[in-house]
Amino acid sequence: MSEHYDLVVLGGGSGGVATARRAAAHGRRVALVERGRLGGTCVNIGCVPKKVMWHAADFAERAAHAADYGFSGAPPTHDWARLVANRETYIRRLNRIYGGNLDKAGVIVVEGEARFVDERRIAVGERELSADHVLIATGGKPQWPEIPGAALGTDSDGFFSWTERPRRVAIVGSGYIACELAGVLNGLGSEVTLLLRREHVLKEFDALLGETLIERMREAGIDVQMNRSAAELVEAGEGVAVRFEDGDTSAPFDRLIWAIGRRANSDAIGLERIGLEVNADGTVPVDAWQDTVVPGVHALGDVTGAIELTPVAIAAGRRLADRLFGGKPDSRLDYHNIPTVVFTHPPIGSVGLSETEARAEYGDAAVTVYTSHYVALYHGVLEHKVPSDMKLVCVGDDERIVGAHVIGDGADEMLQGFAVAVKMGATKADFDNTVAIHPTSAEEFVTMT
Ligand SMILES: Cc1cc2nc3c(=O)[nH]c(=O)nc-3n(C[C@H](O)[C@H](O)[C@H](O)COP(=O)(O)OP(=O)(O)OC[C@H]3O[C@@H](n4cnc5c(N)ncnc54)[C@H](O)[C@@H]3O)c2cc1C
Repeated sequence: MSEHYDLVVLGGGSGGVATARRAAAHGRRVALVERGRLGGTCVNIGCVPKKVMWHAADFAERAAHAADYGFSGAPPTHDWARLVANRETYIRRLNRIYGGNLDKAGVIVVEGEARFVDERRIAVGERELSADHVLIATGGKPQWPEIPGAALGTDSDGFFSWTERPRRVAIVGSGYIACELAGVLNGLGSEVTLLLRREHVLKEFDALLGETLIERMREAGIDVQMNRSAAELVEAGEGVAVRFEDGDTSAPFDRLIWAIGRRANSDAIGLERIGLEVNADGTVPVDAWQDTVVPGVHALGDVTGAIELTPVAIAAGRRLADRLFGGKPDSRLDYHNIPTVVFTHPPIGSVGLSETEARAEYGDAAVTVYTSHYVALYHGVLEHKVPSDMKLVCVGDDERIVGAHVIGDGADEMLQGFAVAVKMGATKADFDNTVAIHPTSAEEFVTMT
């Protein structure tokens, strides 16, 4: 039996759910196919559990400051299993809320693995759905290296299933997931080794952020090792050791996490049946309107290799639904000046161009950079003070701000408002004309000289 819809969505993650709900709000008949838990990567094995773990590590860090703030008594002990249980209860609640919201919107949720039969027909087990429009929002998965013994490690999905804290952990990778997990595990008491293939982390961000983060991670006790390319994993007692390309072998670790990038979920959805060729890295090519080369087939979110963030997938999806079904023919996502936070310890906030990107785009003569290195008031009374760093990247005679970057306490909650200003085209003079809020860290952004 074939059921016909205006829109069939493949994937019930951030992008798929947002698009389905918006299309249904425009009065369309929508089905959404999900093979796992509603909410996708973000809710189940991404942003949400990660941020819960970040809060736990942040709490541990603040507890270590208690004595300097006049508190005494035994330091609190931590129960990893209890934290994980509470986290998973919260996530199950979110799963139910997602399901409830789709129900309320009138979206038909189909459980199972979706596969194209042809451009307009989707098979889910025995069931077949047909549609005028199909959206591919199948997200991505962690990438693994093809080296002997790789399976002795795990990935970020595996990390979220741990029910106890390992004593010694190696994390391989230099992107935001590697750095965030390093901070969480270190904060909660594991001995953490971060293995970098080269000498940088967060290479797509302004260099100030990555360089400062490496310093902060080392000061916090993380063993950051550079120029370490893994050639093989070998069993070492109950754990694992790394053989490097240069012949060295690491000390044993109880756990090793691969955090070397993600790959699009595009290989098992039958794209060959509709003649849709993926890019070399597996991502689905789309134009600025989220359209693929196959009429009526659209894609968005991580599967397209777009900026891999939940609000990006959501925003792209809502705009697509508005364009297709909401009478807004010009609706599409502007991918410029998308702010982001890296939940490291300390956190990082960033919007717009790095200094290097601005110099390449506008030329050295047009670029003015302002920086600030300061100790937040919170750290003023601490014996061990962790400084913060900021940078504003401006261009032209009117010093339009094209980049704002910060690493330090409060960066995570600080940047959203500044991102509005950058998106609106604020100049350095606009920032200077804004009266500071004192005493905060954010005030540094409007007092830089
Ligand atoms: C560890 C980690 C931390 C992260 N932290 C953040 C953060 O702090 N902030 C942020 O903005 N972003 C974060 N992200 C990124 C964010 O999770 C993704 O950008 C976002 O989830 C992408 O949404 P999506 O809809 O494209 O894909 P997903 O959310 O991955 O959803 C895709 C869905 O499709 C389903 N699916 C796949 N194939 C099929 C099929 N054939 N049939 C049916 N269903 C299928 C999958 O089961 C999945 O539920 C993080 C990611 C990770 C891994």
